[in-house]
Amino acid sequence: MSRFWSAVVGTLKPYVPGEQPKVQDLIKLNTNEHPSGPSPKVIEAIQAAAGDTLKRYPDPSSERLRSTIAGYYGVEANQVFVGNGSDEVLAHVFQALLKHPLPLRFPDISYSFYPVYCGLYGIAYETVPLSDDFRIDPAAFGAADASPAGGIIFPNPNAPTGLALPLAAIEQVLNANPQAVVVVDEAYVDFGGETAIGLVARYENLLVVQTLSKSRSLAGLRVGFAVGQQTLIDALERVKNSFNSYPVDRLAEAGAIAAFEDEAYFQRTRAEVIASRERLVAALKARGFDILPSAANFVFVRHTSHDAAGLSAALRERRIIVRHFNQPRISDFLRITIGTPDECDALIRALDTILA
Ligand code: PMP
Repeated sequence: MSRFWSAVVGTLKPYVPGEQPKVQDLIKLNTNEHPSGPSPKVIEAIQAAAGDTLKRYPDPSSERLRSTIAGYYGVEANQVFVGNGSDEVLAHVFQALLKHPLPLRFPDISYSFYPVYCGLYGIAYETVPLSDDFRIDPAAFGAADASPAGGIIFPNPNAPTGLALPLAAIEQVLNANPQAVVVVDEAYVDFGGETAIGLVARYENLLVVQTLSKSRSLAGLRVGFAVGQQTLIDALERVKNSFNSYPVDRLAEAGAIAAFEDEAYFQRTRAEVIASRERLVAALKARGFDILPSAANFVFVRHTSHDAAGLSAALRERRIIVRHFNQPRISDFLRITIGTPDECDALIRALDTILA
């Protein structure tokens, strides 16, 4: 605390991102990045944009990028909002659409940034318990006529469990809660989930958030977006234009557009991650791990006899980092990002020595 701090600062419990180690030769399976790296066309586009025009501000409304995303998903450009990573998009969503007298609801085991935004913006919230098998129960978010929520947000697939909800379950939440904005955070959807963007035309209360950090291997570029009906997007624009007019810089816009234009690369590399995941799941099962069915680029696993904190430390000694969350209900689990086939093999070899 310092007398120079504004009152809220001392009350904040900031998000703790997964470690980004400074040393090079670690196998990094802790922050759900995509192992392939971006499309070569993305690099070319960024290089082409890295010129004299950098002296000028970028387009504040990122119109080319918004039209590209709109064209890709078959929506209108005015139904797309873009920002500096989906974390920034989510921050604006919390402030613009999820702060109401009635509490916001999200799962008890979910993306740990959600309660952080609530703290920052003073948003009342309630957590909704996952079932014993770690599934989201669509009915547990409440209903307009019984226990109305001020807003609802959940990742699909959920993080860190990796479990996905079918679109019918999303529609159940939307139909039961027409009074509330329902935000579906689809950071991992391209690895096995079904996007809800196709429902936007029919549900005025639906907002879908996605990122280029995961399936398009662009975590370092910081581009995320939201798709919803124009009233919701207008609210996000109003907050953004009261915060930072230029969240997407010229290089990021050029790279992001190129990523959407290289469909073949996207399809090939996400299929490679899915195939690696299935191989890794089989290898982990054979070594005594329980694995939640994953539709994401990570697996959430627990060993039948070895504790997760010990395994994580032993892997680290062997220069492999995975994520362990020391929190209720999930302290037995490790979240392991799907790396390259070589990285997955190295993980298995390390586990073979640790478990021996
Ligand atoms: N949503 C979820 C569920 C995530 O796991 C992450 C990544 N930590 C994000 C959003 C944010 O990703 P980014 O800011 O890189 O777009």
